[in-house]
Amino acid sequence: MKISFLGAAKLVTGSNYLVETENCKFLIECGLFQGSKTIGRLNYQPFKFNPKEIDFMLLSHAHIDHSGRIPKLVKEGFKGKIYCTKATADLCSIMLPDSGYIQEMETVWDNRKRKRSGRKLREPLYTAEEAKKSLKYFKPLLYDQTIKINEEITVRFVDAGHILGSAIIELWIKEGWKEIKLVFSGDLGRRNRPILRDLSRVQKADYIIMESTYGNKKHHPSEDDARELITIINETVKRGGNIVIPSFAVERAQDIIYELNKYYDEFIVSENKDFLNVPVYIDSPLTVSATEIFERNPDCFDEKTLKLIKAGDNPLDFRNLIFTRNVEESKQINETPGSKVIISASGMCSAGRIKHHLKHNLWRNESSIVFVGYQAEGTLGRRIKEGEKSVKIFGEEIQVNAKIYSLDGFSGHADKEGIKWWLDGFKNTPKKIFIVHGEEEATREISKKIKTEMNIPTYIPELGESLIIEGEKVIPKEKITLEERNKHYIEIEDSLEKLKSTLYPALQRLEQRSENGRENGELVEIKNKLIRLQKESTELNMLLIRKLKEENHN
Ligand SMILES: [Zn+2]
Repeated sequence: MKISFLGAAKLVTGSNYLVETENCKFLIECGLFQGSKTIGRLNYQPFKFNPKEIDFMLLSHAHIDHSGRIPKLVKEGFKGKIYCTKATADLCSIMLPDSGYIQEMETVWDNRKRKRSGRKLREPLYTAEEAKKSLKYFKPLLYDQTIKINEEITVRFVDAGHILGSAIIELWIKEGWKEIKLVFSGDLGRRNRPILRDLSRVQKADYIIMESTYGNKKHHPSEDDARELITIINETVKRGGNIVIPSFAVERAQDIIYELNKYYDEFIVSENKDFLNVPVYIDSPLTVSATEIFERNPDCFDEKTLKLIKAGDNPLDFRNLIFTRNVEESKQINETPGSKVIISASGMCSAGRIKHHLKHNLWRNESSIVFVGYQAEGTLGRRIKEGEKSVKIFGEEIQVNAKIYSLDGFSGHADKEGIKWWLDGFKNTPKKIFIVHGEEEATREISKKIKTEMNIPTYIPELGESLIIEGEKVIPKEKITLEERNKHYIEIEDSLEKLKSTLYPALQRLEQRSENGRENGELVEIKNKLIRLQKESTELNMLLIRKLKEENHN
């Protein structure tokens, strides 16, 4: 089997790995390169494979650096299925067209410059329309289901706890009598973060392709940073400035809303209450839509968040929260007097409305800019974070006088201890860990840590490098071991318990007819879901009857 590392190798963006077996070719991720102009240009290079020959694709999560070249892939002839979780498919349905729109806008800007200097005009990488066309290839799967894609490849998506719908992908790849268990980490989440369940540990792998974004960092505890954010808001309000938070539309923004909700809805009492009258603007249409998608995928939430919802508090809403969608509302924000918190995208300040808010606030001594997410090399965000005294925004030189903060406690990536904790979950010693998705320093440091502390061989592939890996001969087993059988039964019992605890209350709720009546669409959706449930439960019953008959026969 051959793996080619065609993106996010010694880099953090552009994730793209090609796997070739005897009879099939597939991709893991197809992300956008983001950062400096040189890195951005990589998006325009032709793929190192023929998209028409790719059988299918696996996608770990919706972030653009993992999914952003899918429309280009489809535009150039890919016709296979794109397997991912349902929440990932939902998020991509807004994020990819948004990315297409950004590509179009950037091309308009660039072409104006090109025209003036007499250079050849260029086409956008893809348009919003082309991005929409790629959505029909998405094939959502459920977490923890083991799915056979073809005779050779079986996959399972387990929770990565990084963003809504994010997954670690387990792959069983057969070639003749040989089998390889490959685990792709996707982006590994942090434990004990709000809203989402923690990442799952995987038990076995022959080879692991693993991210290393924060492989050389240790994060602050997230509660400390939530408190620190409240202090920053209070201090900035005293100075009469605004608090601008560049944030990824997905997850970081919702995490901040969740943390602020705790203070604003007063179940955490803070001594200094200046922030209570400060409005919080979510100024990003994408963030508004993403927040709606969160509310549609509660099955990804952790126990604590589900409890809040049951108690009647929507953790993604509080009284001072204002969502702005259209441009007029957005422009109003900087014109209305008084201090405010402005959360806007993009997270690395490379596009979107955040650039306007930075232009309005960077030069003001009294304002604060708070970074809560990763800033890739070469981005506007990275330059401000690293202390540049003046930056160019929309062709204008802007002084950086505002206070600059960086709260990495909101990070959605595991730090070096988190990565080690995840690797400690493997019960066997993997043959090799390929370290990707990290800047050089981070990859080197985590590689050294794994080698010395865990005694597992590692390898840091170059961008474009291909490697051949061999599987072990598998001797077909007659029967599964007692241990394996027990593990299955424990998981079945666990699923049954969960089913009982959700199904009975749902059925009871259904029996009560709603007084003010439900909408037609809602009723149709309820009926469709019930039909599917009925079908699934009949099939489950048939399977159990057949099994019982066989056992009695034996
Ligand atoms: Zn990510």
